[in-house]
Amino acid sequence: MFADLHLHSRFSDGTFTPEELVAHARRHGLSALALTDHDSVEGCEPMRTACAVHGLEFIPGTELTAEHNGAEVHILGYFIDVTHPRLLAELARFQRARQNRIREMCARLQALNVPLQAETVFALAQCNSPGRPHVARSLVERGHCSTLDEAFERFLKRDRPAWVPKTRISAREAIALIHQAGGLAVLAHPVLNHADHLIPVLAAEGLDGLECFHTKHSEEATQRYLAMATQHGLLITGGSDCHGDSKGRPLIGSIKLPYAYVEALQTARRRRARRRSNAPVRPAPA
Ligand code: AMP
Ligand code: ZN
Ligand code: FE
Ligand code: FE
Repeated sequence: MFADLHLHSRFSDGTFTPEELVAHARRHGLSALALTDHDSVEGCEPMRTACAVHGLEFIPGTELTAEHNGAEVHILGYFIDVTHPRLLAELARFQRARQNRIREMCARLQALNVPLQAETVFALAQCNSPGRPHVARSLVERGHCSTLDEAFERFLKRDRPAWVPKTRISAREAIALIHQAGGLAVLAHPVLNHADHLIPVLAAEGLDGLECFHTKHSEEATQRYLAMATQHGLLITGGSDCHGDSKGRPLIGSIKLPYAYVEALQTARRRRARRRSNAPVRPAPA
């Protein structure tokens, strides 16, 4: 049995619906899935339903953009309560910041004589958690760029003229928020954020796991992260980070995480829940 614990849907910058993700997962013989949309949990209920219909196990998740001393890191939350009020309030705040960022990126594009309207991007994105891929797709659709890569290279990559930094919480805050919502916090794709040196730091700040298996990790990187996870007492996770079919062949199916790692996550989650329920109840402030 195998799992994919890193998937994006149309509720953020993926192109598949939760139902389409489940259909692809079945074709690849996956039996457990986590949905990890950027700053959103809105796809979790439809994904849970689609998984239930086909007998797949579903783990509700999200991917939060955070920072440590100015460096961007992505923190995955697994087994979160998707009705948790504080989590939902924070996600709504991140989503508003994402929408304002789209407006600002379009203003910059307009100043560069690229007449892309924020409303055009929102109409294409059709979600509350829009990101740069939606701007890139709009630029291609409107004929301002011929490919998504060109859109990123010319305008959207960090320090390119239409790039706008994202509002970020600290990694410590992201980990705490996931814990409050009953979840486990995992550092996503350390290779992509050049975050190796942060692994011991974040482990000391309460991080539960490390995404060792990822499409962008070489065999050598994977082995290095497996060793670091063991060294720092972190759980091991993995996923394809599939964003749909926007880059040719969908990535789902490229990472098949052995199910024993999912069982280890479940054990850790139960242990954390027991600790929480045994914790002394603090008196309400007078
Ligand atoms: P955002 O959250 O708005 O900063 O957008 C980040 C997302 O953009 C990532 O999750 C990737 O899906 C995508 N992305 C980042 N850099 C590139 C790139 N150079 N080419 C294509 N997609 C990219
Ligand atoms: Zn993405
Ligand atoms: Fe990421
Ligand atoms: Fe991702």
